[in-house]
Amino acid sequence: MNSRKQTDGIDNLAEFLDGRSFEVTLLKVLLENSREGVALIDWRGNIRRINRAFSRMVQQPHETLEGKNVLRLFPHGEDRALVEEIVETLWQDGYWSGSMRPWLNNQEKKSQELFLKISAILPANGRVRFFLCQLSETQAVGQPSAAIIDTGRDPLTNLASRSLFVDRLEQAISGAKRHNRSLGVLILDLDRFKLVNDSLGPVLGDEMLKIVALRLTHCLRTSDSVARIGADEFGMLLTDIDEGTGAVRNSGFVARKIYDALAKPALLGTQEVELSAAIGITLFPQDAQQADILMKNAETALDHARRRGRNNYQFFSSEMAETARKRFALESQLRHAMDHDELRLFYQPQVDLQTGRVMGAEALIRWFHPERGMISPADFIPIAEETGLIVPIGEWVIRTACRQIADWKAMGLPSIRVGVNLSALQFQRQNLIGIIQDALRETGIDPSTLDLEITESAIMDDVAKAVKTLARISELGVHLSIDDFGTGYSSLSQLRHFPFKTLKIDRSFVRFITENAGDKAIVNAIIAMAHSLDQNVIVEGLETEGQLAILRALNCNQMQGFLFSAPVPPDELTQMLRDGKCLPATMASPVAEDTGHPVGKESSPRRQDA
Ligand code: C2E
Ligand code: CA
Ligand code: CA
Repeated sequence: MNSRKQTDGIDNLAEFLDGRSFEVTLLKVLLENSREGVALIDWRGNIRRINRAFSRMVQQPHETLEGKNVLRLFPHGEDRALVEEIVETLWQDGYWSGSMRPWLNNQEKKSQELFLKISAILPANGRVRFFLCQLSETQAVGQPSAAIIDTGRDPLTNLASRSLFVDRLEQAISGAKRHNRSLGVLILDLDRFKLVNDSLGPVLGDEMLKIVALRLTHCLRTSDSVARIGADEFGMLLTDIDEGTGAVRNSGFVARKIYDALAKPALLGTQEVELSAAIGITLFPQDAQQADILMKNAETALDHARRRGRNNYQFFSSEMAETARKRFALESQLRHAMDHDELRLFYQPQVDLQTGRVMGAEALIRWFHPERGMISPADFIPIAEETGLIVPIGEWVIRTACRQIADWKAMGLPSIRVGVNLSALQFQRQNLIGIIQDALRETGIDPSTLDLEITESAIMDDVAKAVKTLARISELGVHLSIDDFGTGYSSLSQLRHFPFKTLKIDRSFVRFITENAGDKAIVNAIIAMAHSLDQNVIVEGLETEGQLAILRALNCNQMQGFLFSAPVPPDELTQMLRDGKCLPATMASPVAEDTGHPVGKESSPRRQDA
């Protein structure tokens, strides 16, 4: 964005505040000495001035921030939704407050949770030109207006604050070094705290934090310490533990004790709420000898624990750090992949089982990494989803697929329907409909040639909202398919409420269908039910003639799988359409015997790794 150095900074602000030079000086003194982080941001989002406290909190010097766009603090897509929300609210209400975690200078780590207030400065002429941004260290959730002074204590729980915790850790490290002792650092993150806070309100959210603080305190010895180090994150320092494997045993024991203590439901108002948490553990001196690295290790371990589901604790390991490093590297490379034209769409044909003709194709993304070669979506889509990058990537996929449909049409080829995968995050975004409309308008394609594939889990997150979104997509004339059917928990009867025209049976049901009667019975039931709902059924992952024979006998409509073709680059599909490539006649009619292997040259996964 705009990073041009501007001259009308704070002096100009004073000018339109109708001030004289004394006021300018006063303003500068106030700004520099405020305990709150203060930033002056112009209407374009460029940071004009920050004070010392602001610079300290985001760990970036004046020079790297002033004159730069505020998005510099949020370089990764995961924060995009929040930034959008802030901007929208600011232009609407002139004020936004809430908590956030900007990225620190090295951009590998976020700051602790900071509380942010932004107000539009309304000059006499009524045109907003500046925003005042005030940043303070974490305060009690739900009490946005109370200013916080860091006394080393969290006012809500009366536990130590993050800074005091780190101080104590540093002291404990020097003590442990002198006496050859071990230390355990635990970071606990409450599951679903945001949900409790949003649904039961901040007062009960606060209550929950107090209950947790108390229970944690009871789990530890007096020589240990507990701190509230983030909105719903607690740090624990175990000082009196054994060495070596004993330290692992001791810390693991404390983690289990914490789970037991949290297991008892908490009474919040009239509601009983179950508490659960993820815990990351790291040990001194095995894992690291410095406080900041120990904290980082514990966060890394916590991240692994979170991924493994509820009520999980994980010890830090060097492999974890390596995985985290690799993930991070991949994530930052993925950010550049789009701009550097490294993403491509391949297309996997879908064939009608009656006629053997190609009726459609699924667009599947490929990343051609300059050093690592082709990376499968299975390896980067999850990262894209976690970081929010899937939103811009998904938008690119929709536009590219629509353009491809238009190109094929312009070439006079038989019309096919192209499937595009929608991830849950994209599906939840408000602007999805707009993006689809734009792509349709831009390319002028027949909406029914676009097919959006959505998985059950994406819908089941919020059924009521999904019904509305799907109805709107369907009103555009766009085809809708349910993807990976059978892997989620939705029942076929639930599907009745959704405007799906196609159901795609997950390939896990097909793999052993020739030998597993259970799988065959399930697929049979799915097909019969889908047909009763007037849905078209596509089976995925067909690799052998034996599987094909069964699926044909079960009246499945279409197939997609290596038996016919792997996903191929667009040119290759163009050629197939030109040649009128069909499922060979021998295969188009039921065949009795399963060879057990993918058949012949035609069906091997060609160009998959091209
Ligand atoms: P999916 O939507 O279930 O896509 C089908 C996957 O099955 C593809 O893997 C395809 O190559 C593979 N496949 C097709 N036929 C066979 C077969 O006969 N045998 C076997 N073993 N596999 C077969 P791919 O291309 O690696 O994609 C993996 C997943 O990545 C997709 O699963 C989809 O969930 C996701 N994905 C791919 N492209 C996109 C995209 O543009 N956006 C989003 N959100 N997700 C995508
Ligand atoms: Ca799919
Ligand atoms: Ca699928």
